[in-house]
Amino acid sequence: MDLWKGLDVLRQKKWTVTFAILNLLSLSSAARSPAQSPGDLACRKLQHALGPSIVNKPNDQDYHSVVFGAWSLFNTQYSPTCVVLPRTSNDVQITMAAIYQYDSKFSVQAGGHSAPKGWNNVDHGVLISFEHMRNISYDSIKDTIVMEPGIRWGESVTLLESQGVAPVGGRVDDVGTGLLLGGGISFLSPAHGFAADNFVELDVVLVDGTLVTATETNEFSDLFRALKGGANRFGIVTRYEVRAIHTGTADDKTWFGGLIQYPPSSFEALAKAISNYTLYATDPNAAILLYFAHFLQPDDTVQSFAIASIFYNGTSLPSSVFGEFLSIPALQTNLSPMSYPEIASSLSEPQPANGHAQMFGAVVIAGGEDDMHVEVLRQWLNFTNVFQDEYNTTVLAFTPIPISQIAIGRERGGNAMNSPLGSAISRLPLYINECDKKQSVFETYGQYEFLKQTYAKYDPTRFNVRRMDGPQGL
Ligand SMILES: Cc1cc2nc3c(=O)[nH]c(=O)nc-3n(C[C@H](O)[C@H](O)[C@H](O)COP(=O)(O)OP(=O)(O)OC[C@H]3O[C@@H](n4cnc5c(N)ncnc54)[C@H](O)[C@@H]3O)c2cc1C
Repeated sequence: MDLWKGLDVLRQKKWTVTFAILNLLSLSSAARSPAQSPGDLACRKLQHALGPSIVNKPNDQDYHSVVFGAWSLFNTQYSPTCVVLPRTSNDVQITMAAIYQYDSKFSVQAGGHSAPKGWNNVDHGVLISFEHMRNISYDSIKDTIVMEPGIRWGESVTLLESQGVAPVGGRVDDVGTGLLLGGGISFLSPAHGFAADNFVELDVVLVDGTLVTATETNEFSDLFRALKGGANRFGIVTRYEVRAIHTGTADDKTWFGGLIQYPPSSFEALAKAISNYTLYATDPNAAILLYFAHFLQPDDTVQSFAIASIFYNGTSLPSSVFGEFLSIPALQTNLSPMSYPEIASSLSEPQPANGHAQMFGAVVIAGGEDDMHVEVLRQWLNFTNVFQDEYNTTVLAFTPIPISQIAIGRERGGNAMNSPLGSAISRLPLYINECDKKQSVFETYGQYEFLKQTYAKYDPTRFNVRRMDGPQGL
């Protein structure tokens, strides 16, 4: 089956079904008292409290752009009762209080890049979209960046470029701030930790609509730590204050690197090289993302290649760190002095957002572990072969997490993942931002017990777990 074509058909059907449902609702509302579903009740209350420019119903202007704005087409196959587009934290408080009061289903969408189906959209409930909360500013006295949750990583770097600072965010420009709540991996991470390790202060709306400000040391320090990896389960963050990283302006070519493209004949050598890199590379100035891709072209020809994005905060690529990657036969090598803003835009999305239906799945393996990287590569090639008629693209990506990245998180009060340091590699946490929803990610966290206790404290009726789709295990 051609998944793309199949989804296109589904998408058209969805429009038909949506309008059919609308017709039915208006018929029934003429015949009897107003619909009584929890989503209807919450949305009705919110329309009164916040007005139609913030609370959009299916025929309103922003409703469809939000619902169809989800990056994976699987997440566009939903019909929320209303879409709330808050402008302030107070709007989010009012929204959550109504959702809680009427026991409505709900979901939250920031950059919309979640792959798991249902994690950023909802049927017959309230969808909160941060499209209209996108401010970002740099506080030079505190040396921190304050962001609203609707900002995307490319935008954040562009808007702060002239001030020479950037947040630790993601590597692809169109991704949004939901990334932070899953940990967050950036090319800055080896030197500055997971993105969430750079939290300074978070404004969080709890399930009943209460707004709290959490820091590493105040009375909400447990919530603060749980939000570093706890994904969408611990409240809605309406304001992130994070450490500013002095990355320089577009004129400051303080990095060296770029992309190397390799042919399939180099795949196994690359898997061995990334295994060695993971085991031996300790320099926090070095960052790498290696991925293997298999694309079925519209004319049914297949394109297979690997790309290594390698960057070094310095004037050249040290051969002690990147030597193996530089010596493996390549198709194209594009390396030069670079500024951080150039690095941040080097992985722009190759196609328009929300053009594909996506599925993710992840494993975690230790460097040098019995050739596991090569084994994973072979499994991916096998999968690609077996399912070549089902998927038009398959990608296998490796991101090494160096000891420096884990150590920084610990120095800053720890995160929920709590990866082991040193040789204790028996229990490694899965990385939630790249996992499938069936994977029990929280159970692999070093702070799983803490996470469960903190969840029970802040959401004693388990409202979030009952009414919102997201990671299992709490
Ligand atoms: C093309 C692509 C590139 C990627 N690159 C990277 C990368 O370089 N590094 C990395 O770490 N990850 C990466 N990811 C994974 C990415 O981190 C996750 O998909 C992340 O969840 C996306 O965040 P978002 O805001 O764009 O998505 P959304 O789907 O809007 O949000 C993600 C989740 O967080 C919840 N959420 C969002 N905002 C809030 C909030 N304010 N309060 C409470 N819950 C909230 C949502 O409900 C949803 O469950 C990538 C994904 C894709 C598709």
